[in-house]
Formats: sequence, C-alpha cells, structure tokens
Amino acid sequence: MIDFANLEAWLVTGSQHLYGPETLQKVEEHSTAIARALATSLQIPVKVVPKPVMTNSDSIHQLCLDANTSKNCVGLITWMHTFSPARMWIAGLRSLDRPMLHLHTQFNEQLPWSTIDMDFMNLNQAAHGDREFGFIGARMRLKRKVIVGFWQDPVVHAELGAWLRAACAWHDAQQLEVARLGDNMRNVAVTEGNKVNAEMTLGYSVKGYGVGDLVKRVQQVTDAEVSRLTAEYDESYTVAESLRPGGTRRQSMCEAARIELGLRAFLEDTGSHAFTDTFEDLHGLKQLPGIAVQRLMADGYGFGAEGDWKTSALVRAVKVMSHGLEGGASFMEDYTYHLTNGGQVLGAHMLEVCPSIAEGRPSAEVHPLSIGGKEDPVRLVFTAAQGNAINASVVDMGNRFRLIVNQVNLLRVEHPLPKLPVARAVWVPEPNLKVSATAWILAGGAHHTALSRALTAEHLENFAQMAGMECLLINRDTRIRDFAKELQWNDMYYHLAHGL
Ligand code: MN
Repeated sequence: MIDFANLEAWLVTGSQHLYGPETLQKVEEHSTAIARALATSLQIPVKVVPKPVMTNSDSIHQLCLDANTSKNCVGLITWMHTFSPARMWIAGLRSLDRPMLHLHTQFNEQLPWSTIDMDFMNLNQAAHGDREFGFIGARMRLKRKVIVGFWQDPVVHAELGAWLRAACAWHDAQQLEVARLGDNMRNVAVTEGNKVNAEMTLGYSVKGYGVGDLVKRVQQVTDAEVSRLTAEYDESYTVAESLRPGGTRRQSMCEAARIELGLRAFLEDTGSHAFTDTFEDLHGLKQLPGIAVQRLMADGYGFGAEGDWKTSALVRAVKVMSHGLEGGASFMEDYTYHLTNGGQVLGAHMLEVCPSIAEGRPSAEVHPLSIGGKEDPVRLVFTAAQGNAINASVVDMGNRFRLIVNQVNLLRVEHPLPKLPVARAVWVPEPNLKVSATAWILAGGAHHTALSRALTAEHLENFAQMAGMECLLINRDTRIRDFAKELQWNDMYYHLAHGL
C-alpha cells in the first residue's frame, strides 16, 4: 500500500561546454559516483539516478519536461560541479513541477594543498558555480531546498533522506484520493475547508460517498472471511474474555471484522488511500468503525474522524513519509489535560488511534460508546510508547493552508488507567504546555492532528515547502511575542505572495 521500490530522485549535474570534453567526462564520473553513494545510503529511501551532465538550455528544458511526466521521479537533486551559466536553466526550471533540491557539495572533501593547481580549481568550483545557480532560484522565486555539505557526510544523507521522504509523500498526494463517508460533524469549523483549493494546491482529491455504498460492501462479506479475520484478531491482540470464541460478546467481534472487510474492500474498489467517517452518519452500520479504522491506519491509510478530510490527507502524508522507519504514526486529538508539573496532554479519540504507536501488545475490547446510538464498538486499547514525536495540524486560512507542527515528548504513563476504554498517548509539548497551547491556539491549530514518532519537524517543513504551505513550528525556541509577530508577517506575506 506504500511502496518506495520504484520511486527515484534524479541527480542533475550542471556544467557548460567551455571546459572541453575531458573536464565534462570527469564531471560525469563524479556525478555518477555521488549518485551511487547516495543510492546505497541507508538513509536515502529511494533510488538516486544520475542524469547526463547538463550543458545547454534545450537539454535542461527536456529533462524537466521528462521529470514532470515521469511516474517515478519524486524530485530533482541539482548540483553545479563547475560553473553553469544559469540563464540556460530558466526555461527548464520555469516548467519544472517536481520538487527541487540544491545539493551544495564538492567531489573533493579536502583541498590538496601541496598539489593544487588551476586544473583542480577549474574542476572543483561548486563554491561559486552553485552560487550562480542559487541566484536563478532566488530570482525566479523557486520553491527549493538547499543542503550544504560533503556528499559522504551522514548528516547530509540524513537531510537528503528527510527531504526525499517528504518528496515521496508529495508524489503520493498528487494522486491521492480521500474517500469521505458523511459530512463534517455538526457545525465544526476547523475541520471544514475548501476542497477545490486543496486539489489545486495540495494535489489530493476529496470524494464524497454515501455510507450506503460502504454498507453494501459490508453486506457482501462472507462468514468465512469474517472467521478468518477474527482468528487473526485472536492471534494478534490480547482479546477481552467476552470477545473470545464462545464469549458473550463474540458477535460484536464478528461484526467489527465484517465492517473492516467491507471498509477495506470499499477503499480498494474506489482507489482511496485515505478516508473519513462520522458517528453521525452510520445508517446501516451496526457499529462505528473502531478496530477497522485502527488496523487500516496501521496498514498506511490516512484517516480523519468526523469528516475531517484535511487531517486524513495529513495522516496519509505522514504515513508515507515514515514508511520503513521505526515509531509509527496516528490520527490524534488533544483530549484532556493534566495541569500540574507544567502540564501534560492526554491525547486519544473515541476509538481511532493507530496501533503503530503502541507500547506492547494492544488489547481488543468492547465498550459502550455514549454517542452515535449504535451497538458497542470493538476497539484496540493501548498506550503509546514514550519518546520524541511531532504533532501536526493543517487548517484552511481561506487564502492558504497552514501547517502547524509541535515537537512533543511522549511520556511513559506511570498510572494504570483501568477505566479508560480507548487508546491513548500522554505527552509534554515543547517548550511547555503553556507556550505550546498559546501558540497553537493563536495559530488556529485544530484539535485533530497527525502524530508521528518516526518523523521530525524537518520532514514536515520540507513537505510544506514543496506544497507552498505556510508552516509554523512550535518547539523549544518558541517565544510567544515572536510567534505572534510571525503570524502577522505571514498574513501579510500570503496576502501579497501571488504578486511576487
Ligand atoms: Mn474528534
């Protein structure tokens, strides 16, 4: 469901004919060596494909057009080994619609002090060649990332890896369909938004379906399929006694499995990799999907509760970015507080928290749900593992989408929570609850978020930069006075930005 195997980044090295074939041959060799080294780095999640050295406008333009139509190219990594007069890049870069990274590196890590001559100087001149290229990026107001450092440096690999993961999520978003079952809950404002703007600026498409379309699929599920899935539940989780084979509530487990199978088939039929539902619109479903949503998220589907398609798409993006990394990611909601000792947040939802963030083996339980008027839903209950995480929210500001990212620290929960029938996470937000919540509320951040233990703020900042989204970071350096000014400046910037 998430697969990086065919995805690739193109390493594009710029030069010019001035230097003659011998130098260009060397540039090509170096470029290939760098691509090979990056491709084998454990931190780089996709193939790195070296492209022929670019020496004129036509070939650059053609390369950019090829990138735009390539199914597998998630972005370009550019590097000017020698000097490449940047006017030749204008036509290509003007048409490029893939993310672009400028890798400012040099093939030789050290200066050969005792032997350095003008040949060395003329071959290894990224120090000024990349500045010429930087100018055209700035002059054209291109969205781009700059990474500086030696190409074998693990720090550079980590930075490249974070950017490429964001590029994979951006690539995914361009073909993503978010299935929406039911409208937004009641009159909630923050989960609303402009779906046309989202498709134009973020790529993904939000499609509404009647819950009856899902019910039809649920009804087509056979008893044999239900038995197979409940057996899988029995093996995978600590199952509450009443839900075990022969237990008094086994039927609830069977119904939950039937819903999962129907929902899975519905998402496959519609080609949707993210979805929303709402407890207010469950006509024909016996339970609010709980374990079904949790397990689908664990498989990589995006999810937002109560019609929240923006968070669903964000959870999907976070799932793609964190593919293959330890730590997991989930839909989340700031639910309630512990206000002593500086303050902690207890995050949870009615049911839908992804077990990929769990500490230990989740338990499968059934409890009443006080809203929705349906049968008691089966859900996985667990506590999130401790460690650093990011918690992110996307809101629609009317003229732009705003991404808010908070660095948080998940705590080991010392207290047993015998009466809390849902999965939960407890964290301290950086720099502390007081500043974090002040900044979050000033920025209009939602109660719904995507939480990831696998990613850092850098991943999401890269993603926002590719999307042209406003990105606000709340971390240990946040000062409210500065943050409030940033909000005002950003308002002015986005008001004017279309004219730049
Ligand atoms: Mn909610």
